[in-house]
Formats: sequence, C-alpha cells, structure tokens
Amino acid sequence: MAHSHFDTIVAPITGAGAAAVAIIRLSGPDAWRIAGELFQPWRPEPMKAVYGRYRHGDDGLALPFSEGHSYTGEESAELSIHGSPESVRALVQACIRAGARMAEPGEFTLRAFLNGRIDLTQAEAVRDLIESRTAAQLRLANSQREGSLRRRIEGLSRILTGVLAAIEASVDFSEEIGELDWKQAACRLEEAKGKISGLLETADFNRILRRGLRVAIVGPPNAGKSSLLNAILGSDRSIVTEIPGTTRDFVEEQIEVDGFPVVLIDTAGIRESRDRIEEMGIRRSRAVAAGADHVWYVHDSSQAWNAEDDRFVREFGSSVIIVENKADLPGRDHPVAHRVSALTGSGIPELLQSLPFDRDIAHREVAINSRHADALKRAGEAVDLARQTLLSDRPTDLATVFLQDAVASLGEITGETASPDMIARIFSDFCIGK
Ligand code: GDP
Repeated sequence: MAHSHFDTIVAPITGAGAAAVAIIRLSGPDAWRIAGELFQPWRPEPMKAVYGRYRHGDDGLALPFSEGHSYTGEESAELSIHGSPESVRALVQACIRAGARMAEPGEFTLRAFLNGRIDLTQAEAVRDLIESRTAAQLRLANSQREGSLRRRIEGLSRILTGVLAAIEASVDFSEEIGELDWKQAACRLEEAKGKISGLLETADFNRILRRGLRVAIVGPPNAGKSSLLNAILGSDRSIVTEIPGTTRDFVEEQIEVDGFPVVLIDTAGIRESRDRIEEMGIRRSRAVAAGADHVWYVHDSSQAWNAEDDRFVREFGSSVIIVENKADLPGRDHPVAHRVSALTGSGIPELLQSLPFDRDIAHREVAINSRHADALKRAGEAVDLARQTLLSDRPTDLATVFLQDAVASLGEITGETASPDMIARIFSDFCIGK
C-alpha cells in the first residue's frame, strides 16, 4: 500500500444498498476533528454515542473511540446516518473534503494488525466471520477471532524459544551451567511436534466447514434421486422426469445439517448403458462419487435388488449408504438400507441425521487454513531436524539454526515474521470497510 498509515481514512462499514441505517468509520489522527466539523453537537467522550445533525442535512448518532480503544487501535469515530447509498456517499465525500481519504479494502483490519490489536490469524478470522454461511463456520470464526489459534501458536513458540535459550546458554556458558540436558530438550521438542501434528489435523475440519460435506446421490435411473433431492430441498431445482437416464448434468445444492454445510450432488443415473451420452454421464458420476465424502446409493425398493446394484455398492466401498426409496410402495428392502419416500417425505430427516460426520467439529475451537498448514508443516520439519541433531553427535548449536527456522515459520502464522508481500496478499482478499 503506497498510502501512509498516518492518514485518516474513511469508509462505510455497513453493506452497500439501501437500509434504514448506515455507518461510516473515520480512523486516524484527524478522526475526531473531522467528525466535529461535520456533526453537531460533537462530544468527544469515548464510547458514548451522541445524537445530532450533520452539516449536509440528515441526523444520526456519532460514536467516538479513543486511541488504543478502537477497532483499529487509532482514534476513530463511527457516524450513523440514514442508509441510502446517496446519503452514505455524501457523508463520505464530506469527510474526504475535510481531510480524510477513502480506506483501501481491509485497511481498518490491517491497521488493527499493524497496531498490535490483533494478529494475522485474528484478521483472517474477521474475514471468515463476515463470509460465514453456517452456524458452525460462525462459531469457529468467532473463536479464532478471539485468539484461540493465536494462543496455540504462541504457546508453541514459547516451547521452542525456551529450548533455544537453553541450547544457547549451554553453548555460551558451558563452564558455569554445565552441559545441556539434551534428553529433556529433545522431549520438549517432541511435545512441540505433537502439538504441531494436532493442529495440522484440524485442516480437515476447516475443509469440511468451508467446502461442506459432499454427498453424491447415485443409483440406477428412475430410482428417485432427483425426487429425493427435491424433497430435501423442498423445491423443484432439478427436473423430475419419468424417462430413464435424462438427468445428465450434475445438480449441486448446499443444505445445513446440525449447523454444517452439506453439499448434495445429484448425478446422472448409473446404469450399464450402450447409449454413448449416457455412458459419459455415468463415467462422470462415478468420478463425482469417488470425490465425495459419502455416496447415497438410491434404489427403488419396488424393484428387485440385482447383481448390478451389488457391483456398484462394492465399487463405492465404505463411503456408501444404501437408500431404499419409494417406501410408500410395496416391495422388499435391502437389509442395511435407510428407508425413505421422496413422495411422502418419510425417513428423510432420519437419513440426514445418519450422515456420518464428526459432530464434535462444531465444538472445536481451532481449524487451520491452508496458509497455516503450510507454515506448520515447515515448522514441524524444522523441529524434527533440531531434535535429530540433539540426539546425534553433531554440534548442538546446529540445532539452534533449525529451531530459529521453526520459530520463524510459526511467526508467519501470527504475522510476527510475515513478509509485507504475504500481509498484502492476506488483506487484498478483504472488502472495503473491513
Ligand atoms: P432419478 O432418475 O433417479 O432421478 O428418478 P426421478 O427422481 O426422476 O424419479 C423417477 C420416478 O419415480 C418419477 O416418476 C418419480 O415421481 C417417482 N418417484 C420418486 N420417488 C418416489 C417415491 O418415493 N415414491 C413413489 N411412489 N414414486 C417416486
């Protein structure tokens, strides 16, 4: 960012479009002066809202924040007005005329980071929070915004810097303090490695939270796959048809089960087929099923279960859940099937509840993203090298080099050792006003 961080910046912090109320934020050394010029009566009493009028017309509340006690850490003011895009524009323009400049995307949060209010994991969590679409995403984003990941990374860093200090002391003052207790040091490193591995495992939760649990709906034509999807969605998103093999394109829908995103993918009817187009569809639906977390093999319970059904179920292995549809019709069920009727809706809530995913994920405090995972992997490798060095007869101080690398990798996660490029990349994802 070419701009100085000493500028006073302004941007609406509420959404675009018409609303009853909109809020704009001024942040920087001139925030209170500008607010005082545009708003009367201005009373710079921190965190006390005051009702008044704007110079350009309109009325609302002004809320001052003092330096060190605001979102950005700077002197700021939040000004509310009636929320038409035009009134927002007029107030922002008035602020700019009085000496502020328009904030860059993510600049409020960037300043909060640069002023030490939050670390990078918390800044990322602000973005995740704003973008969260399910209850589970929201919960996790809030926990990370409050520092759950930051505390773990800082705890890890403390272990490593403790070992580093012990090694350095034993090298510099070996006569006074004697030899390093290398066994104990190696133990501490093993403990750190365990914590790193534990954090790395949480990358999967993050994937499920973001991408959703993917469930492919497969089965022979006319088994009622599209009907089942529509019954779940309560709408006619995919075309229900009585001609076998016509659902040739995939329909993906996201639903929420216990606060989790679940993506349902309706595939083309799976059947051994001589029709070339249908065959292509089948090949693709097999690929979708292979890439899904779970497969619902939907079978028409009024039809016999045959060798072909057996073959498909075997092909999808342990991820397969057999669903006998059309339970409203007389028929025989597969012994391990879930009985549902897309027509009457019976059995559908139970089918959704039976989706095997770790509902504990909802209560996890931490789930790392790919940026964190990348840095943690590097930190873990460096810790391993340091430990091996301590346990070998190589010079002990060689281990310090690896440990410094590990600490630096952890620092990338919190931002302590992140390069300006890396920081710019993270904040470039943000929207205006964040
Ligand atoms: P798909 O080819 O597997 O997607 O199957 P469709 O959803 O197009 O359904 C095929 C036919 O079965 C349609 O005529 C549906 O109305 C009918 N059908 C689907 N589900 C049920 C059900 O639960 N009970 C009954 N009686 N008919 C169903």
